[in-house]
Amino acid sequence: MDRFKSHSMLDNSADLTAWFARTGRCPDCGGEEFIDGPRGGLSRNMKCATAWCGSEYNIARYEGRIFHVDRIDRSVPADVVVVRVPEATPPTIH
Ligand SMILES: [Zn+2]
Repeated sequence: MDRFKSHSMLDNSADLTAWFARTGRCPDCGGEEFIDGPRGGLSRNMKCATAWCGSEYNIARYEGRIFHVDRIDRSVPADVVVVRVPEATPPTIH
């Protein structure tokens, strides 16, 4: 694990989860606003709305309670990004 990737002390999911459950704020800048990203199952990608921060998190909630938070590391190829493919319309045959 490369601890220098993150500029915050909170870089493991147990600490992040506890932080978000308690404060609901971005641990990097203290911001309270987040931009909703793609959602997959119970978790959702959230990006901090503070312009100079922009830290991204994957936040999982169940019945309104945050139970798991991870950072989204943009230095790693995005093979876990949730992509929703629109349903294809079947061709009509006359
Ligand atoms: Zn932030």
